[in-house]
This record gives sequence, structure tokens and C-alpha cells, in this order.
Amino acid sequence: MGQRLVLKFGGTSVGSAEAMCQAAEIVRSVQADGHEVAVVTSAMSGVTDLLLGSAHAAVKGARLTVVEHTAAIRTRHEAAADKLGLRGDDRHLVLDPITARLSELSLLCDALGVLGEASPRALDAVGALGERMSVHLLAAALRSRGVTAHAVDAARVVRTDDTFQAAVPLMEDTRRLAAVELLPLLAAHEVPVITGFIGATADGVVTTLGRGGSDYSGAIVGAAIDADEVWIYTDVDGVMTADPRVVRGVQTLESLSYLEMSELAYFGAKVLHPKTIRPALERGIPIRIKNTFNPTHPGTLVVGRSDDGGGGLKGVTAIRAQSLVTIAGRGMLGVPGIAARAFGAVARTGTSVSMISQASSEQSICFLVAEKSAVTVIEALRTEFHHELERRDIEDISSLDPVVIVTVVGGAIKRTPGVAGRVFGALGTDGINVIAIAMGSSECSISLVVASPDADRSVQRLHDLIVAG
Ligand code: ASP
Ligand code: MG
Repeated sequence: MGQRLVLKFGGTSVGSAEAMCQAAEIVRSVQADGHEVAVVTSAMSGVTDLLLGSAHAAVKGARLTVVEHTAAIRTRHEAAADKLGLRGDDRHLVLDPITARLSELSLLCDALGVLGEASPRALDAVGALGERMSVHLLAAALRSRGVTAHAVDAARVVRTDDTFQAAVPLMEDTRRLAAVELLPLLAAHEVPVITGFIGATADGVVTTLGRGGSDYSGAIVGAAIDADEVWIYTDVDGVMTADPRVVRGVQTLESLSYLEMSELAYFGAKVLHPKTIRPALERGIPIRIKNTFNPTHPGTLVVGRSDDGGGGLKGVTAIRAQSLVTIAGRGMLGVPGIAARAFGAVARTGTSVSMISQASSEQSICFLVAEKSAVTVIEALRTEFHHELERRDIEDISSLDPVVIVTVVGGAIKRTPGVAGRVFGALGTDGINVIAIAMGSSECSISLVVASPDADRSVQRLHDLIVAG
């Protein structure tokens, strides 16, 4: 039975004419297997950076940079159009909208130059242009393979709020729009090729979902059209058990649960944008991560629950360059509100906290922030608690850096007794000192803080544990 699928292609998968041909061939063969296919695409790799670089250069009055970036973007797209062998009408169908987007870029940059500043809304207008160009090339590559494909601007489909740069999709409106804009195409066995990364407000103002957000678009479209699966095509075989640059013997995971995937994505496995999980989870739509350049590899499946392999431990990641901030003092014991005030003060500096741990004696709270924010955070805390510091209720507010958060992820942590013991045992036998610990209540991960020089060794030891199963 044919399924309804969303195939999402990342920047490298559409980074050149050759890559686009590969992607188009995948879409053609999936459709030929009898499936309904909606495609979501990123901008050509590097183009979003060039666009935003132009905007920032325009603000600073660096006109030459704007001109150079614009020329580079034009060349990338024109070269791809040439290599795709587009001629006649199809060449116009592709290059006319691209030329229009490039003129829009120039106008926007002129305006930014005059204003001398770029609002989040303006940055979204500029940043969105990459997908609004690549979509035409990919649709043409499909047509040249005999697939009836249409470029679709997600501004017509994905309705969002107006949080520019991190817009939140409004799913009910998006479902309604998708029913009008996408379902008739699918019913006619035509392929909509939809811009990832972007949406629009009810007033039609273009928004973006945040950098790397086209994965999220794939899941949003999948949820909106009740897809059977969302396939995320990237340039690696799937989600790996660890970063292959740090760890020996990494493996590609066959499957993992939504929860495990979100922990891994949050703690640094870059394969999938962390927000992608939510729309898929809410509708129970499996996500498959696959390699455009190795399409026969089964990839990684992300589903509701997954028990295979590794004794139930799935992966280990590290977040580096962290600072461990400690607020300590005997006068904190039993005093309500210290934690609230501490995190309030941190929040006001605009710093996000990556991990928290408090021992039950309540004589200290410690948490982690990026090393570069430590000085600001400590200052804010000293101001907040200057009375307590004077009275010596709080004796010290200090930081330890650089440290690394090592996180091991796996549903087994919740289900199987003794997993935490094995984790600490593995580090202990290797003489690695664990400075702080946190286990989320989702119980799907354990995070440990270690000194920077111990980080790689910790990750390797925990990975050995995963592979040993
Ligand atoms: N093109 C956007 C970016 O580079 C979105 C994406 O590729 O996922 O951030
Ligand atoms: Mg990506």
C-alpha cells in the first residue's frame, strides 16, 4: 500500500546540481514505488549564511561585502541551473523567481544600510530568501526526471506567530492551509516542493523557524498532512552513538525513541533540529534519518519506543566550554526562594542554564552556563544576594571552568536498575572524577560534569559501555 511521505532535503543534499539530481532521483524512485510524496527543502548549503552575512554587512555600511555575497549567491544558483541543463520555459520558470529574490535582497540591504540596524523581522525577510530560491531548482530537477513537481512557498502553508527568528507554528491554521495547498497536488500524484525553514504570519509577513529549522518544517508539514512518515535526508547515514571525531568505534543507530532523540539533539548531536521531534511525537509520525549520498542505507528510525541494542543506552554527547557556578552557604538551609531568586537573576542576564543540580542538604546550588557567560552571571548573582553575602548566609558564589557536561542517553536508564551504577563505575575504574551529576525526570539521560581534560576519555569510556551492550 502506498504511504504518504514527507521527504526533507538538507543544505548539502541540494548544495549543487549533482546533489539536487541525486535528491530528485530519490524522490522519483520513492514516488514510483507508489507513495504520495511532499518534498521540503533547505537553501543550498552556505546560502543562508551568505544572506545573513549580507544583512549584517549592509547594517555596517560594508557595501562591497553585500555586492560580493550577492554575486556569490547568484553564481551558485545560475551554475546549478546551467548544470541541470534547464532550457526554454523551464529555465525562465526557475531563473525569473531567483532573479526576483536577488533584487529583493539588494533592496532589503539598501534599506538596512539606510536604517543602520536590522530588526528580527528584517533578518527573517533576508534569511528566508535562500529556500525561496533553491525550491525552484529542485522542482525543475524533478520535472526533468518526468515527475510533475511544483515549487510551493511555505508562506502560503505554514502559519506562524510573529516571534521573528524563532517563529512558532500555529498547527490548526497550518492544517487548514495544507489541506488547500498540498492535498490536491498529492491526490493528483504531483509533488509539492516546499520551502523549509520559513512560514508567515496571518498578515502574510515572512518568518523563520530558527537556524537549521528546515528539519522542523519537515515535521510540521508531515503533521499537517497526516503523513505516514517523515524522512529527513542529510549527508550522514543516521544518528550516531557519539561524535566520530572524538570517539573510536561509533555506530549508526538503527532506532531510538522520540525522547532519546530529543535528549541527544539537545545535548549536541547535530543531525536533527531539536524542535523537529514535537510535531512528530504529537501525531505519532515516525521520522527516518537517511543519507542522500548513500540512499540504500536504512538510516535511523525515530519512533515512540525503541529497545534495541546497547543494553538500552543509545548515545553519549558532550557540551564543552561550560562553567559550573556554585552558590554555597549554611544560611541557605531551609530558606525558601533562594533558587527562584538565583535563576531569576541568571535569566535577566539572558543566559540559558544547561544543567542544574542541588544536593538535599540545601547548602549549595550549582548549575552550568556557557563559559563565556560566567562573569556576567556571577556579577548578577552577587548583586542579587549582596545582603545574604554580607550576613554570611551565603558564603561564596564562585565558578569552576572550563568544565564539560557529558550526557549519556537511553530509555534503559528509566527501565533497568543498575544502569546509573554502570555509568559511574565505568568512569570510576578509569580514575575520572565526577564533579556534579543530574538525572532528568524524563529519566532518559544522565548528565555528569567533568573537568575539560577528562572529557574525551569520559565520552570514550561511556561509549565503550554502550557498544558492549
Ligand atoms: N537554511 C536554513 C539554515 O541554514 C535552514 C536549514 O537549512 O535547516 O539555517
Ligand atoms: Mg540541518
